[in-house]
Amino acid sequence: MLNSSLRQLGSALRARKISSVELTQLYLDRITALNPALNAFVTTNAETSLAQARRADALLAGGKAQPLTGIPIAQKDIFCAKGWRTTCGSKMLENFIAPYDAHVIEQFNNAGAVNLGKTNMDEFAMGSSNETSHFGAVKNPWDMTRVPGGSSGGTAAAVAARLCAAATGTDTGGSIRQPAALCGISGLKPTYGVVSRYGMIAFASSLDQAGPMARSAEDLALLLNVMAGFDERDSTSLQRDKEDYARELNKQVGGDKPLNGLRIGLPKEFFAAGMGSDVAKAVEAAITAYKKLGATIVDISLPNSRLSVPVYYVLAPAEASSNLSRFDGVRYGYRAPEYADLTEMYEKSRAQGFGAEVKRRIMIGTYVLSHGYYDAYYLQAQKIRRLIAQDFTDAFKQCDVIMGPTAPSTAFKFGEKGDDPVQMYLSDIYTIAVNLAGLPGMSIPCGFGDNAMPVGLQIIGNYFAEAQMLNVAHQFQLATDHHDRAPQNIGLQGS
Ligand code: GLN
Repeated sequence: MLNSSLRQLGSALRARKISSVELTQLYLDRITALNPALNAFVTTNAETSLAQARRADALLAGGKAQPLTGIPIAQKDIFCAKGWRTTCGSKMLENFIAPYDAHVIEQFNNAGAVNLGKTNMDEFAMGSSNETSHFGAVKNPWDMTRVPGGSSGGTAAAVAARLCAAATGTDTGGSIRQPAALCGISGLKPTYGVVSRYGMIAFASSLDQAGPMARSAEDLALLLNVMAGFDERDSTSLQRDKEDYARELNKQVGGDKPLNGLRIGLPKEFFAAGMGSDVAKAVEAAITAYKKLGATIVDISLPNSRLSVPVYYVLAPAEASSNLSRFDGVRYGYRAPEYADLTEMYEKSRAQGFGAEVKRRIMIGTYVLSHGYYDAYYLQAQKIRRLIAQDFTDAFKQCDVIMGPTAPSTAFKFGEKGDDPVQMYLSDIYTIAVNLAGLPGMSIPCGFGDNAMPVGLQIIGNYFAEAQMLNVAHQFQLATDHHDRAPQNIGLQGS
C-alpha cells in the first residue's frame, strides 16, 4: 500500500479493498512511529483527519468519488487550513489557528482528499536546508545526518519516508525542486499564476508559487489537476480554462520512440564549474536515457542566469520586508510579554518572534527599498529580472524543454552551510532563474551521487507547458526506476 501510486490508491479505495479511514490510520501510525526521528510534521490532528476520512468513505460508498477522494495528503505548513494550527515554521505563528482555508486547501477538500497534517519548513519559507525552522530541522530519510533541503523539507521527507501519499510545497526560489532533489522525489513548480496564492502565507509575492510533491510525475499530474485553477481572491491568479494535466502522460509523439522529436536544451551555464562531479554524472546519464527515448539535444545559453542569485537576494527580501510587516504583535501571532509602549511592543514582538534568517532578509529588504538605494538596487534588479526572462524566451525558440541539475550537490550535512548564508544561497543557483521568469520547473530523481544520496534532474518548460513536462518526466519514469527507490530503515519491509 505504501508504495502504491495515487492512481492505484484511488482504485483500491473505489473497489473498497481498503477504506479511507484504514489508509489514514496507516499513515497516522507511521507518523507516530517515525516522526519523532524525522521531524517532518509540525502538526497532526488525528481526529480531524479521520473525520475527513469517514466523509470520504461515505462519498466512495455512494459512488461519488473523484480521483483523490479518500487519499491522505500532507500540507506544507504555509497554507492556512481552517481550525488547524498554521505556523509557517515560525515562533511568530506558533499558536496561530487559521480561521479560513487557503484556496489550495479548499481544492483538496472539494476533491475529497484527507488532510493528514502540516509539514515542517524553513521559517517563512526562507532557507534551503530546513535548519531555519523554529520547530527544529527535518532529517533526510536517506541519511539522518543530512538535510532534506528546503524550504519544503518536511514535505519532501514525508513523501520520501512514505508518511503520506503525497503532499504540497511552495517554491519562491527552488523550495519545491531542491528538497525534491535532495530527498529523491518528484516536485513541480507551476507557471506563476496557475495555482492561487490565496491563504498561502506570503514570502515574496511575485515569485511564490504552490505546487505538488510526490513520488512520480503521474502522481504530480493528479495533484496539479486539483490545485490549479482560477481564483478571483488572488489578483495574480490566471483566468484560463481548466486543463487535464494527465492528458499527455502517455502521449506518443510518433515514430518508434516515445519522445521522438523532443528537443532538449542544455544551458552551458548549468554545466559549468560549481556542480558536483557526482551530480554531473547522474544528470548526464539521464540525458543519455532521454536520447534513447528519441530526444535530440540542443546546446543553448542563458547568459544572464549567472545574475539570478544576486537579483533574487535583492527582490525576494524586498518583497519579504513588506509582506512580513504585518507580523507586528497586534494583528497576528506572537506578542512580547513585556513592553513599555506601543513602539517597544512592536520591536520586542518582532525581535523575539522572528529567527535570524528572517531578520536578515527583512533588513536587506528594507535597505534596498529605502530612499537613495531603491534605484541602485531594487530597480536595477527588476531590469535584470526582465533580461533573465528574455533569455528563456530566446532559448525556447530552439528547444521544447530545458534540462540540467536541480541543485549543485546532493544533501549536505547539518551545520555544513549554516554559518555561511552565501554558500546556502548558492544551493538554488539552478532553480531561481525559473521563478524570476515565472516559468514552470520540476525535479525528478535521476540516480544517486556520492554517499548514496539522491540526485535530481531539473526540467524547465515554457509558460503553461506543465502537461508536456509531465509527459517528458513520465516517459523517463516508465523507462527507469530511480523514482521507485525508497530509503532504507523506514519500515517498508513487508508493506
Ligand atoms: N532557498 C531560497 C530562499 O531561501 C528559496 C526559498 C523558497 O523557494 N521558498 O529564499
